[in-house]
Amino acid sequence: MTDAVGEAVEAGGALVEPTDDGPPHRPGLSPSRANDFMQCPLLFRFRVVDRLPEPPSPAAVRGTLVHAVLERLFDEPAGARTLEAARALLAPCWADILAERPECADLVPDGDTTAWFAQAEALLATWFTLEDPNRLQPAERELVVRTDLEELELRGIVDRLDVAPDGAMRVVDYKTGRSPEPGYESGALFQMRVYALLLQRERGRTPALLQLVYLGDGTILRHAPTPGELAVVEQRIRAVWSGVRTAARTGAWEPRPSALCSWCAHRALCPAFGGTPPEVDPDAVEHATGVRPEAPAAVG
Ligand code: SF4
Repeated sequence: MTDAVGEAVEAGGALVEPTDDGPPHRPGLSPSRANDFMQCPLLFRFRVVDRLPEPPSPAAVRGTLVHAVLERLFDEPAGARTLEAARALLAPCWADILAERPECADLVPDGDTTAWFAQAEALLATWFTLEDPNRLQPAERELVVRTDLEELELRGIVDRLDVAPDGAMRVVDYKTGRSPEPGYESGALFQMRVYALLLQRERGRTPALLQLVYLGDGTILRHAPTPGELAVVEQRIRAVWSGVRTAARTGAWEPRPSALCSWCAHRALCPAFGGTPPEVDPDAVEHATGVRPEAPAAVG
């Protein structure tokens, strides 16, 4: 998945959020949204309950484009998965993104994609220095994984799943940003551990390897998860969901200012920056969390 917010078009695809498609509706949580709540409960509310629109960010949309190319490249037969073939996919993948989100066109002044595609090409070129797609045959791409944790459906989308002949699974995620500094890998690995937990519960086997491929600085971060650490991740998810339900019931969606506020699209509505959140809709709270707020629902 892409690493920036515009996860609104998260990695080639679908935002892993509660949707209205098809009954029965179940509250859901993805690693990104769990991170949102841990970072700032009010940000979670804006995104998941209020579903406020966010302007597309260049980094996120560029990430979506690169993810789309990397996914589609594997439609080519081994031997034909070249950088030139990847470059040729940029235009059709970009057309698909614009068809889904026309507002992304604003990121490319006058429709001239030269510089825009050049940035994506540089990331693709870096990928070819890290992995050889002609020697890989993914078992899955953009794999939707989900599991029930009582009233919660935990969900995620795995960029790529490689499965060895002996059944060993390698979970691969592309990041178009830079790798974390040494000692700060745990945040990045949280998402991967959630994917590992989902696969473990779906397939009855712990993935052998988690692999984060950073195209921003040409680094690969690998980690072999253990059942014990996945049990800890499950407890953490349950604790986050318990916090979400408490906030839903009490209306205490507290802002939690941090350095990350600089990237928040909702500062104008945030009390920490002098704003006033819109009144929360109890139906939206119940739809997103399964919990009816105590009346009257507080704001912010
Ligand atoms: S500006 Fe900061 S504190 Fe306010 S909602 Fe956004 S992330 Fe939270």
